[in-house]
Amino acid sequence: MTAATKKMASGHASPELRNRKPANDTIAFTEKGREVDKRLDKHETYEFGGPIGVTAMMTGFPMLMYYLWICLWFYDGQIVHPTSISDIQPFLNRMWAHVRDDASPTAYTFGLYTALIVFQLFLAFTMPGYEQEGLPVPSLNYKTLKYNCNALASFYATLLTMYGLHTTHIFRLTEIIDNFGSLMTVAMIYGFAVSFGIYFLTILFGEPMRMSGNFAYDVFMGACLNPRIGNVDLKMWAEVRIPWVLLFLIAVSGGCKQYETYGYVTPNMAFMILATGLYINACAKGEECIPQTWDMFHEKWGFMVIFWNFAGVPFTYCYSIIYMASHDPSKYRFSTPAYFALYGTLLTAYYIFDTSMSQKSRFRQQMQGTYQARWTFPQLPWGTLSEPKYIQTEHGNRLLISGWWAFARKPNYAADWVQSLTWGLVVGTASPIPYFYSLFFITVLVHRCGRDFERCAIKYGKDWEAYCRIVKWRFIPGVY
Ligand code: NDP
Repeated sequence: MTAATKKMASGHASPELRNRKPANDTIAFTEKGREVDKRLDKHETYEFGGPIGVTAMMTGFPMLMYYLWICLWFYDGQIVHPTSISDIQPFLNRMWAHVRDDASPTAYTFGLYTALIVFQLFLAFTMPGYEQEGLPVPSLNYKTLKYNCNALASFYATLLTMYGLHTTHIFRLTEIIDNFGSLMTVAMIYGFAVSFGIYFLTILFGEPMRMSGNFAYDVFMGACLNPRIGNVDLKMWAEVRIPWVLLFLIAVSGGCKQYETYGYVTPNMAFMILATGLYINACAKGEECIPQTWDMFHEKWGFMVIFWNFAGVPFTYCYSIIYMASHDPSKYRFSTPAYFALYGTLLTAYYIFDTSMSQKSRFRQQMQGTYQARWTFPQLPWGTLSEPKYIQTEHGNRLLISGWWAFARKPNYAADWVQSLTWGLVVGTASPIPYFYSLFFITVLVHRCGRDFERCAIKYGKDWEAYCRIVKWRFIPGVY
């Protein structure tokens, strides 16, 4: 086989990859690959509309969150707007009055949110975990970082603690829904404080990377790639332990609220408890797959990631829960077949999301020689490919073309999006606001997919073109 044909050949990983792979068969980065990696670690072009775009987002996100919450909570879940030019000022006054009177931070809500952060940090430092080696980091001269994956033990500890606090009446879970507006403001304050704090700390004491030189843009995108306290990776900790834990607690809070009000929990609320529970459990039981995701190896820890983790995810993805906790169940009652369809769609989408993520992450671990089976619950069939086919790139990396990855280049995005859609469908047509998550998320995913493919096209050149010819579709075969 000539060098050229060897380079383009798709290969099979041997079956013994299911266990630890011998180091001499692992990926090796070529000189050319290292050059491209260096280029990708420099700022070249502005994304997200540059300084103006990111400033608009930093001011727009909080305003949008307040607006949607006000519509949901105080206007029966309907979109409200000024009815004439002269109504603009009174309308804005009404909105501001809600923020001031119903969403001001209090010592109580500040204490609650802080307690969650401190508790989750404490668990991250103390709970037993599984050690996973991350991908080689080009900016650290291809050194790999170790991740102590103890999110699952921490999640179980959180569940037990919350159960204890709720049943002993020390902290009733309904308090989360009852103090929603104020907690949301505290979360936003944390989002801003951590983003700016970590930016200045990195500039003063760290190693800023991929900097543009524009202050607003660099705060938004972040300055550091791998912020750590001891062995705790703050970016990975914040991606799982705050947003998805809190979102699950909000769903349970909604269930408790319904139980206290009506004496039962609706199938719709139970659906959201299941959906958010599956999501946090997936992140925790497969935490060792997270170092292989784009957020970990490429995205810096800036406002975009921090604000969304501390405030955006928990306080906007929960709109259907808030609606159901504050509205009569007759507004969103379905027929039995409709419930079967809804639950069936969620479970199917979840299955594809979970297994496509694990197929790719475990493939990358196999190629790196760091894969070891981890028996967390549940392990789904087809989660690990035994003889994956791949394209060997000139860069050194290998691109998977088996499993779900034979059908589309982002099967995980498509499945994740369908899950988000069901989180809105659960209220039917009662309110448009719970559909915010799926609308926002499709925009994020399409944009992120474009950014990722642009980067991969630079990184892999002709090999990427070959890959796109083999795997033609982006999200769903025959559709997009
Ligand atoms: P991917 O899992 O698609 O990772 C992209 C990277 O994987 C690429 O940059 C490339 O990296 C590598 N890659 C791409 N294709 C292949 C292949 N065929 N074989 C091997 N490696 C490949 O994206 P994300 O990390 O962005 O997604 C993680 C999950 O998180 C998604 O399911 C997404 O939906 C979810 N998510 C959810 C959010 C939410 O708010 N609910 C927000 C953001 C993400 P390299 O250059 O190293 O080859």
